[in-house]
Amino acid sequence: MNILIVHAHHEPQSFSSALAQQAESSLKAAGHQVVVSDLHKMDFDPVSGRENFTSLKDPQYLKQQIEEMHASEVGGFSADVEAEIVKLEQCDALLFSFPLWWFGMPAILKGWCDKVLAMGRIYGGPKLYEGGIGQATKRGMVLMTTGGGPSAYDGWGLNPSLDVIMAPIQHGVLWFNGFLPLEPFVAWSPVRVSDEERAAYLSSLASRMENLFEEPHVQMPPMADFPNWGHDIRNRYIVVVSQKLERDQRFHDLVADEQAMLADWKRQGKLLEFSISDPNDSQWRAFLKLRATNSKEVESMLSELPLAEYLSFQTTELAKPA
Ligand code: FAD
Repeated sequence: MNILIVHAHHEPQSFSSALAQQAESSLKAAGHQVVVSDLHKMDFDPVSGRENFTSLKDPQYLKQQIEEMHASEVGGFSADVEAEIVKLEQCDALLFSFPLWWFGMPAILKGWCDKVLAMGRIYGGPKLYEGGIGQATKRGMVLMTTGGGPSAYDGWGLNPSLDVIMAPIQHGVLWFNGFLPLEPFVAWSPVRVSDEERAAYLSSLASRMENLFEEPHVQMPPMADFPNWGHDIRNRYIVVVSQKLERDQRFHDLVADEQAMLADWKRQGKLLEFSISDPNDSQWRAFLKLRATNSKEVESMLSELPLAEYLSFQTTELAKPA
């Protein structure tokens, strides 16, 4: 398989660069062809302008998307943009490697997206989401380092949750263009962890690279579920879960399977939110927000939970926006 790694760190000795190098060597060892666009090494110019093109449809008034469509028809992209577009078109998996900057990607990488993901050649018309160039078969993945630790980004911390921060990349860039996103690989706060923990990050990344085309991807909602860019054809349900039967040893043995199934539902886009009160309180409650076609599907999902026989479920369908 062909893999494109787009790497954005200005220091080759950084841990972010070590992640990109690890990904490259593990993928090559697994027999893949790897192309690396090391944006700083290439001195990539991230600023979009007339220079993106070799000929302009309207030299008087720059409308980037119109010029991109024109350039797509006449082969009019500048050499640097054209070279990156070709790499993107030829890859089976697209990896972005970068340090988290201002809750997003560094400007040089954002500039790569702004220039290379060009209307016409890359996206537009039917080429969106499952119809995009990734064809809902190619894979996309983020390799990221952070300054903050995981508790700052777990939904209870000061910063927005990792899912929120990742949405512009996972949904807005990868899935919008038809690449199936994998769970991001995050090396939390590499500056503050021990040598052993950094070595563990590298070896865990190596394992994920060996399995890049086999690991389950995050299931994103297909465009077909949102006719005419309208609301989701699927519904939302809130399920309040409480204890029905006393806990016994079997209950405790099944908790890990229950958690794995919830994680799988989350990856499949069926479980949108999950929260739970103190599980040691005899009156504990869990709250699930589910995306499903109808209440029958919800019922069937809940019946599959490993702990189902111990639990009571109260399901309410949420109103759709007008
Ligand atoms: P480095 O400092 O390069 O590396 C960490 C350590 O790893 C170093 O000691 C290095 O020697 C060591 N190392 C390198 N290679 C190896 C190897 N092969 N094996 C073992 N150890 C190795 N953080 C946030 O959380 N949120 C933000 O919004 C945010 N915004 C930022 C905005 C800007 C403009 C900047 C500059 C930083 C921001 N940060 C933010 C912090 C930033 O995300 C972190 O500084 C960065 O991700 C750390 O990764 P690094 O690769 O640069 O670390």
